[in-house]
Parts: sequence; structure tokens; C-alpha cells
Amino acid sequence: MRERNIVHLDLDTFFVSVERLKDSSLEGKPILIGGMSDRGVVASCSYEARLYGVHSAMPMKMARNLCEDAIIIRGDMEMYTKYSRMVTDIIAEESPLYEKASVDEHYIDISGMDQFFGCMKWTRELKQKILHHTGLPISYGLSVNKTVSKIAAGEAKPDGELEVIHKQVLPFLSPLSIKKIPMIGDKTYHLLRSMGIQYIRTLQLMPVEMMEKVLGKNGQVVWKKANGIDTSPVKPYSEQKSMGTERTFEKDSIDVVHLKELLVSMVEKLAYQLRKKQKLTACITVKIRYSNFDTHTLQKRIPYTSLDHVLIATAKELFDRLYKRRILIRLIGVRFSHLVGGVQQLDLFEDTPEMIRLYLALDKLRYRYGRKSVLRAVGISNREKMKEEEEDAEDRPLPSDIEQRASWQMGGSTFKRLWKINRPDYLTGNRT
Ligand SMILES: [Mg+2]
Repeated sequence: MRERNIVHLDLDTFFVSVERLKDSSLEGKPILIGGMSDRGVVASCSYEARLYGVHSAMPMKMARNLCEDAIIIRGDMEMYTKYSRMVTDIIAEESPLYEKASVDEHYIDISGMDQFFGCMKWTRELKQKILHHTGLPISYGLSVNKTVSKIAAGEAKPDGELEVIHKQVLPFLSPLSIKKIPMIGDKTYHLLRSMGIQYIRTLQLMPVEMMEKVLGKNGQVVWKKANGIDTSPVKPYSEQKSMGTERTFEKDSIDVVHLKELLVSMVEKLAYQLRKKQKLTACITVKIRYSNFDTHTLQKRIPYTSLDHVLIATAKELFDRLYKRRILIRLIGVRFSHLVGGVQQLDLFEDTPEMIRLYLALDKLRYRYGRKSVLRAVGISNREKMKEEEEDAEDRPLPSDIEQRASWQMGGSTFKRLWKINRPDYLTGNRT
């Protein structure tokens, strides 16, 4: 296989850096961002705070005890989302192929660019451009695959750069702690540590079969990463990436209360899928189709979230703005787009860890007993009387996006396939 050049760009203490743009007196000081109450959790902290042993996900109370001088800030997801988008926009403008891995991380595939610019030079210029336009410090790693470039970016922090060329991959990884391998969480780490394994070099020397015995299916993946092997592609990030659901009624309806109940249950279902996939959304779209097939959609950008109560409130607001004509409705749809990887950490600013725990507990029940085992009371009624269209394909665009998509570099057959999936249901004949 041709050697690849993959960049991993990671904003330094992202939330803290954004706060410092607002208030420069925060420079050089220990900062904690997260829930303000004793029960809150640290969502992000500055390097100055880390010197005291503070780290993210630590209970706020403990962090405050460790670092008494720390300035505590509640956090502003709306602003972080805005800056996250600005960074993505710059990367999108400059890059041939990029993936948005989380609010503050991007991968870029610049394979082959060496012939023209020099990969390091190109990436350095991009880093400068991001700093210049947003004021945010960012670090990057450049190497032969995603795993090694991510680890390299971590080693380069803060405000650093690190290139690991092909023949340096093994010697670069070998002295690092096994904790630096992205997929090794606390559980695996402690298991391996209990076996006396501390550094990546030990994993490199172990036979892959032994790793499989210890870690099961994951053993091989961990072994490969320890040896700097990772063939996973940079997945093109598209703002169109989305997940959605829609329902066509057996009988067209004008009952607003009922329609809203349905909307709530649809949002609830999608939000659960979002959390299951460990994703966050930054844009919600609501669609209604009147009985005369007039279709209207409205969307709203929101700070990254995956929590029902935020999404439900926005969906209801959009529905109220959309449903102006009091005539019969035959379909409603909801869609989440602008998805990025990420779990609950972004909602840790809310002083309600209990609520996060409640979500996790409910999701566990849903996972065990099926999605419909736990539903908001409002969403339960009249569930059976309609046709439900589910989508698994995340890439499915809204019908209104089709022409736009087609004008992109899309083959005719792909366009036709999308059209087939998305064409209005009165053309497919399965009128209900
Ligand atoms: Mg970061």
C-alpha cells in the first residue's frame, strides 16, 4: 500500500482557550470549567490546573481541594460550538479530505501532497491560519495513519507539532505508556497494568495471539495499534451527515396536541440512537407535509448535544413555527445533522450530574429491554396507528438536498439510488 500522510489536529484545552479569548486576564491561571456545585464535574481544565493533579471528568469538589486558587467557570457550549465551527470551516476550505472527529479534533488525509508542498509545511501553515483567524492554539501530529498521528499530536501539546515518519513509528511508540493508545480505557489499562505491562514496547514484543487471549476480540486491534498499524480511512466529514425518522399517518391529522406528542416520541427515539452511537448533533430539522403534499422544513442550529430535553424543546419550537396553516397533516419528520463524535461531557456544565446519570440509566434499560421499554408518558399514545419509516443510513440527505448533492461529484447511479430512496411516497405507490 502506498504510504499515507495523515494529520491529526487537536485544539489545546479548547474550552479554556475560548474563555481566554473572552477574558485575557485568565491567561496563565489555573482554570476549571464545569458544573459549579459540589456535585459538578470538571469538563476541561487549563495546563496550570493540571500541575496540581486536576484532570477532566474529576469531581469539581476534588479539583477545588487540589487547586484552591483555581478560577471556576461554568462553560458556554453555544460559544464553544461557534468556535468549533469556525475551525472546521477553515480546515474545510484548505483540506482535500478531512474528518471532524469531535468538537476539537480533526483528521486530514494529505497523502500525495508531498510532491507539491511538503506535508509539514502545509500543516504548519494551516495551524498558523487557524491561530490567526480564531486565536485558538492547536497542536498537530503528522504520520502514516490516524492512530500514530493522534498519539503524536498528544505528545506535541501544547501548541506543538510532531512528525513521525514511517521508519520512526515503532521507536516513537515504544517508550510511551500504554495509556497513550487511544482505545485503551481505564478498565483495559488496569488489566494490562495488573499483568505488569506499562509501556507500549511490551505490547510490541508480545505475540498477537497472547493479546487476543487477554483482551478477546480487541486484543488484535490493540496489538496493531501498539505496532503502529492502522488502515482505517479518514472519513470525509459532511455537514449533510444526518440521522432522521419520519411518520406518515394512516389518517391525516389536525390534532396539534397529538402531533406534538408524536414529535416528542420521535425525537426521544433519535436521541437515544445518537447517544448509542456516541454522537452529538448541532442541527435539528423538522419537516411537515400537508395533506395536499405541500412539504415544509425548518432547521435550527444548536450547541452540540445529545440530550432529550434540549432536543425536544427545539423540535417543538420548530414545529410551532412551521405549522402555520391549520390544515390536515399527513407526515412529520425529524432529523439531526452536523453530527460529531462525543459523549455527554459537553453537558457537564449543567449542575445536574443526576440528570446525566438518569439518562445513562434509562438508556441501559432501553438497551436491555428494547427501545420502547422506556418512553416519556407524553409519547406513548397512539403509537400503532401510523407507518414509521426508519433510517439507518446516516448519509441519507433530506429530499430538498438531493439536487445540491447531485451537483457535487456524485455518479449518476448514486444519484438515482438516492432519488429512489427519497422520492415522495406518492410516487412509490405505497400510499397509506
Ligand atoms: Mg483538544
